[in-house]
Amino acid sequence: MLNQRTIAKKVSITGIGIHSGRKVTMTLHPAEADFGIQFRRTDIKGAEILKATAETVGTTENNTSLGQGLNSVHTVEHLLSVLYGLGINNVFVEIDGPEVPIMDGSGASFVFVMKETGIQTLNKSKKFLVVLKPVEVQVGDKWAKIEPAERLIIDSTIVFTHPLIKKQRKQFEFSCENYIREIGRARTFGLLRDVDMLKRKGLVKGGSLDNAIVLDDFKVMNPEGLRFVDEFVRHKILDTVGDISLLGHEIAGKVTTFKSGHNLHNLLCRQLLATPDAYEIVSATSLRKEALEAFELPRALAPLFT
Ligand SMILES: [Zn+2]
Repeated sequence: MLNQRTIAKKVSITGIGIHSGRKVTMTLHPAEADFGIQFRRTDIKGAEILKATAETVGTTENNTSLGQGLNSVHTVEHLLSVLYGLGINNVFVEIDGPEVPIMDGSGASFVFVMKETGIQTLNKSKKFLVVLKPVEVQVGDKWAKIEPAERLIIDSTIVFTHPLIKKQRKQFEFSCENYIREIGRARTFGLLRDVDMLKRKGLVKGGSLDNAIVLDDFKVMNPEGLRFVDEFVRHKILDTVGDISLLGHEIAGKVTTFKSGHNLHNLLCRQLLATPDAYEIVSATSLRKEALEAFELPRALAPLFT
């Protein structure tokens, strides 16, 4: 038996949005089993709830947003990634602005917050989306595929002309412990030469060396350097976990991506959900022990696990 999780108590986080540059406060509340992850804008009177599902996704340019127009929440992917990474299924998120705070550009701050808050086991089994047949989406030379596997595996390849990135590939076998150790700390990144273009599009207004790896034409501009030599592809995996968590359940399947981004990740989710014979939703009780063991929390988190 592997049960659903929520957070043990409510917690507030304040920070700025990387794209909007706006200061926001976000409060995470515990939620009951089968609630899922839901967002509500508290700065918009009577704002409709935004459920974190693949179908709720609005824009996917340089971030993943939920909702359309005014009632939307941008850059949800890092928070969703950490919730999936820690096996947390149910949280109600209230936010007083248009974008989740970027913190240090990785999931590390959210992991830290969950450690402080504690994780609560609920009295209902987790559900798994088990992939039964391969599904693939392609846009130009970029593609993403999901196929059957006993647990979540992500095999990601990124290709950039920048000499420090070039081609990076990493295969990540999901477990909460691997997530915290290998993926959660990897920061988002950007090229200095793209900053003006992105700002003209209204993006990265809050971006800085405090919340992103910034590369000039030759080197990392952040004085502290990189956290991993392949931090870039690790962050791509962090984003992928967040984006495919919008399938709404734990995932038993292998995701392979080539030059992917938020748009492709969302297309893959939608394509899978539109192919009913390609997946089934089952209770955790029908999965093999190894798939369930991946959700054991590492010792560092276990004392707070109630
Ligand atoms: Zn990201």
